[in-house]
Amino acid sequence: MEVTAYCACPLCCGKSDGITFSGRHARANHTIAVDPAVIPLGSAVYLEGLGTFTAEDVGGAIRGRKVDLFMNEHHQALQFGVKNIKAHLLNQVI
Ligand SMILES: [Zn+2]
Repeated sequence: MEVTAYCACPLCCGKSDGITFSGRHARANHTIAVDPAVIPLGSAVYLEGLGTFTAEDVGGAIRGRKVDLFMNEHHQALQFGVKNIKAHLLNQVI
């Protein structure tokens, strides 16, 4: 997966309320944005070397085999850059 990062700022989201597509507040080390056609919303996703995250958000630029990690600070998201990380779909919460 191509993994990038974002935060709740208007630069990353076009808004700044920190509310994800699923209606939950985005949380660092927890929330990821995905393409629901690839990873269903609600899925637990293990990213090698990073930990386990929950697919709770979507993004205009997140299409196909891409994951966007939520981070608290914009500079952290910039610093993360773009990484190629193996992802495991752990389960699906219905
Ligand atoms: Zn940002």
